[in-house]
Amino acid sequence: MAWKTFCKRLNEGGLGILSLKAYNSATNMQLSWKFLNGSQQWSKLLSGRVKRNCSLIKYSIKYSLWSGIREAYYIMLENCVWIIGNGRIGDWWENHAWHINQNIQLAFPNLLPTIADISLPDLEVADELVWKGSANGCLSFKQAYNLILKPSPLGTWSSFPWDKDSPPAHSMIVWIYLHHKIPTDENLTLHGFAFPSICSLCLASAETYDHLFFDCQFAKNIWIWLANNLQLNYSINSFLDCNKILAESWSHQAKAVIIACIVGTFYQIWKARNKFRFEDKKTL
Ligand SMILES: [Zn+2]
Repeated sequence: MAWKTFCKRLNEGGLGILSLKAYNSATNMQLSWKFLNGSQQWSKLLSGRVKRNCSLIKYSIKYSLWSGIREAYYIMLENCVWIIGNGRIGDWWENHAWHINQNIQLAFPNLLPTIADISLPDLEVADELVWKGSANGCLSFKQAYNLILKPSPLGTWSSFPWDKDSPPAHSMIVWIYLHHKIPTDENLTLHGFAFPSICSLCLASAETYDHLFFDCQFAKNIWIWLANNLQLNYSINSFLDCNKILAESWSHQAKAVIIACIVGTFYQIWKARNKFRFEDKKTL
C-alpha cells in the first residue's frame, strides 16, 4: 500500500500517520511566517541576504535556510493578506508614495490607479500579515500542515473501522479489507502469484474477496447468527449491507454495539481462515 495512503487522515481512509514530507514543508512555512513577521536576529539577517530594494531576489544563493523555506514562503503568501499600517514591513509605502512591486502591477493593472489618491496616515502602526484561515490571524503549525497535506475525498466508510469500542486489531482488518489489500488467494494471484485457489473454510470454492467474507457458507452462517442475535431484520451479504444497517436510526449505544460486532466478525472470519489454512485447526 502506498505510504501516502497511511498518511491520509482517518476520515479520508488513511491511518493519520504524520507525513514527514508535509511536516517538513509545514515547518518551513512557519519559518517563512516568522521571517515576515518576526523581529528576531535570524530574520533580519535573512532579509539582508535575500532582499534587494524591497523585493526578494529571484536568483539562487548558497544559503541553506532560504533555499529550504523559499517554496513554502510563496505558498504561505498565497494564503495571507496584509493589513496595512504604516506600509513599511510589507514594503507597500515608501517615501509617502505607494510602492507596488512589478509582478503585482502586472497581475493587477488597475490596482495602482485605484489607490494612487489614497494616502496612508502617518501613524506608527505596523503592517500586519494575517493568515486567512485562522480566527486570530496567526499561522499555527496545524494550519500549515493541513494546508500542505491536501485533503482527499472522504470515503462513505470513513469513520467506520475506527470505532473506539473496537480493538485496533479488529479495525485494522476492516481498514485493509476496504483498501482491498487482504492477501486472499485472489489478491495474490492479481499480484503475479500463480497457484490453485481453494477456500480453506468451506473447501468448495476459490478464495475471492467476496467469497471469503460474505459468500462462503462459513461466513454466511456467522452473519446470519449475528443478525439473529442483534434482532436485525436484514440479511448481510456484502459490505454495502453493513453500511445500510449503520445508516438506520440507532441509539448511540446500539450503534456502537453493531459496529463492534461487524468489525469483530470481519476479524474472526480472517482469523479462522488463517487457522484453517496454516494451523490445520477446524475450530476457532
Ligand atoms: Zn468458502
